[in-house]
Amino acid sequence: MKCHFCHKEINGKYYIDQWGHNICASHMDKKEVTMCTSCGAFTENSPLHDGRCLCNNCKSSVISTHSEISASLTYVKNLLVSVGFDFGTCNIDNIPIEIVSARRMAEIQNTSISTNNKGVTRTETQMRGTFKSDMKVVGHTHNIYMLSDQSRLEFLGTLAHELLHVWQNEHDIKLSPMKCEGLCNMGSYLIYLTENSPIAQHYIKNLKESPDSIYGDGFRYVFAKYETSGWREIINRVNNNAL
Ligand SMILES: [Zn+2]
Ligand SMILES: [Zn+2]
Ligand SMILES: [Zn+2]
Repeated sequence: MKCHFCHKEINGKYYIDQWGHNICASHMDKKEVTMCTSCGAFTENSPLHDGRCLCNNCKSSVISTHSEISASLTYVKNLLVSVGFDFGTCNIDNIPIEIVSARRMAEIQNTSISTNNKGVTRTETQMRGTFKSDMKVVGHTHNIYMLSDQSRLEFLGTLAHELLHVWQNEHDIKLSPMKCEGLCNMGSYLIYLTENSPIAQHYIKNLKESPDSIYGDGFRYVFAKYETSGWREIINRVNNNAL
């Protein structure tokens, strides 16, 4: 068995990543090789300034330009609409999407820096009325912030998650944090399911196995409903406050 890194015959202890690459244990121990934060493959690339590390494959597909962002937005929106999400009068194509560092993301969310925060949606609700008591919602303005250096599929999955926050905010839907994030993660699931590649399967596994009590439990809760009744029923239930 040859080492994926030094290409020599492996002698003794070795590691295997989930893509079936074998490397001599010494490379990991000496930190010559680490694992791609995005896909879990071994990589000898040096880490980004925020501690993440991308393999060449993931790096080459990172979404960063204006045209890549707008093509991603159209793609994700169409998929969500195709399963029944109605964005009403909200012009999705005009939502400003800004790519930001982990530090900036933490400032926006007023939390500590974590590269697990891959996206955030900020919605401002405009109210109008003569008195405080008769204020009515007249519109919403959404802004989406995306963590930098996300590979294509990671970016699409995060964007689908954020667009389902937009959908909920646009319709003034108030779910518990667990159901809210679980529903948004179903948006990411839809993207990965459509892609149906080994890396997509990797992301689906992450969603299903997340130990997080909001994101993981939330996903499993909504996913169970999806498996028995499908998208339309989930959307109906949300609209009728019965998810
Ligand atoms: Zn080796
Ligand atoms: Zn990778
Ligand atoms: Zn969320």
